[in-house]
Amino acid sequence: MRAPALSSSGIAVHRPLTARLRPHGVLGAWQERNAEATIPHCVARLEDSGVIDNFRRLVGESGAPHRGFVFADSDLYKVIEAVAWEIGRSGTRRWDGWLDEVIGLVARVQDPTGYVMTWIQGVHPEKRFAELEWTHEMYVLGHMVQAAVALDRASGRDDLLAIARRFVDLLHRRFGPGREEGICGHPEIETALVELHRHTGEERHLALARRMIDLRGHGLLKTGHLGARYFQDHLPVREARTAVGHAVRQLYLNAGVTDLYLETGESELLEAQRAQWDNAHLRKMYITGAYGSRHRDEAFGDDYELPSDRAYAETCASIADLQWSWRMLLATGGSRYADVMEREIHNAIAASTDETGTRFFYSNPLQLRPDRYDEENAPRERAPWYACACCPPNIARLVAQLDTYVATADAHDVSVHIYADADIDLPPHLGDGVLEIRTGYPAGGTVDVAVRGRIEPGVRVALRVPEWSRGTVPADEDGYLRIDPGPGFRLDLDVSPRWTRAHPRVDALRGCVALERGPVVYCVEQADLPEDVAVDDLVIDLSVPPKADGATLHLTAHVTEQVTEQAADQATGQEPALYRPAGPAAPAGTSSTLAVPAIPFATWGNRAPGAMRVWMPATTP
Ligand SMILES: [Zn+2]
Repeated sequence: MRAPALSSSGIAVHRPLTARLRPHGVLGAWQERNAEATIPHCVARLEDSGVIDNFRRLVGESGAPHRGFVFADSDLYKVIEAVAWEIGRSGTRRWDGWLDEVIGLVARVQDPTGYVMTWIQGVHPEKRFAELEWTHEMYVLGHMVQAAVALDRASGRDDLLAIARRFVDLLHRRFGPGREEGICGHPEIETALVELHRHTGEERHLALARRMIDLRGHGLLKTGHLGARYFQDHLPVREARTAVGHAVRQLYLNAGVTDLYLETGESELLEAQRAQWDNAHLRKMYITGAYGSRHRDEAFGDDYELPSDRAYAETCASIADLQWSWRMLLATGGSRYADVMEREIHNAIAASTDETGTRFFYSNPLQLRPDRYDEENAPRERAPWYACACCPPNIARLVAQLDTYVATADAHDVSVHIYADADIDLPPHLGDGVLEIRTGYPAGGTVDVAVRGRIEPGVRVALRVPEWSRGTVPADEDGYLRIDPGPGFRLDLDVSPRWTRAHPRVDALRGCVALERGPVVYCVEQADLPEDVAVDDLVIDLSVPPKADGATLHLTAHVTEQVTEQAADQATGQEPALYRPAGPAAPAGTSSTLAVPAIPFATWGNRAPGAMRVWMPATTP
């Protein structure tokens, strides 16, 4: 029922397949929780937060004032998209009545020109297309288009698509070739227009996407005090080689640019995107697969500027990067892209939601200090919703389509990129059998692969060998092991725990290590420590290997030398010195040793609120 999100341009190296994730696997269980908890939660919060009332008031069915940000309508469209993919996955009819109601409202709010956006229509009609840097009109339309395409693909329901096409027609009349030059302050419309082109076969949508991409970087936006880099308007897209400014904007833009390449094959676009990808992932990515090291402007920092405690690391930025990296994978092949995607899926994105599926982080720092104050988008604990609610509905729509990121096909092979317990129907040109993947990954590294039914002779299955397992499993140059599945094949990935250090230029992480196991990043949480031991005082002893106990790993740690000295200060009644003369290290044997449990970063913050850190100071091995 679900069609892959790619046209037949022939430029892509891979074409997506849809997997059926089995419910007891990690990703399958996540999709079940999304269906049972996260999507219903989001639907309810759209009511509480006023998003639906914003539409009702425009047709005389609510007396409430407009609530939420200028772009609040996009929350509705993201939830519709989540519902759409969930219909495609499970065939649920649970949301039919709700869809009738909300799509009916959108239809009635749409004016005769095709325009529909409640903040403009209901609050500031004079701003229509007048302040494109701020009003998010094309951003909101982009989300409407994505929801509409998803709904039509998943269920054949095309009423929202008809509404979206009328609005896109308005965009063509106003901003199409030969008309007014205008681009949106927040990229999103670019990738949506390419998708609409794929879905409808109409070339003009691709042309409009290309026009929007090529107009960026020519000073069209009134960028004000934030500056052009915030909006990625500082350089033409084909010349920009580094990821800068507002992280979500940059990463959505890149997804759109890579989409354009996938349809046009312009090498200039791919060359620029490769350079950007290297910059973003070799100099600006947190180990958890998060992006944006500055709270100010929700922005990328400089190269190697990756503080753990002040990481902004918005959930939407990891989702946006996953969408971009997926398109880079389809465009060029190569395991590096899927390596990053699984880092994001199992760490930054997984950690953003609590174990009930109904509370969310917006900002995903890698260290929480015990006295951290609550900030609007960076509270100490996950919140059920946010005034700027971009992240929770984004999680819902992403998780509802996790099954489309697992595997792809090309002319000769099937490739498995993201390991999950799943069944995958072979595409007709490769056979009519089912590729069965049985695994407890990422808890274990064993992946059993078999084909039930017919597979064309000579067809191979390409299994991604993650970078951390290259020492034990051979792989071709592109990072994949190609096998003839025959009666069955067992892949054994090396998921033994490993210590990781950062590039020495990451000042914030000098002298520290992180603990990883397979794709899973670990952290130490205060909730696991004795009351008189603070997580920030621990120094990990690298001479003792971590011991596994289920998902938990046990480490050996000392308390810091400074703490020992500070304890002496405290014993004499003095506030410990903030700075002190550099001296020889404390004599061996003076610090106490203790066992410290480490847990997957994705699961932190589900018990008592409290301190946490991923990167830990370590003894010199
Ligand atoms: Zn967000």
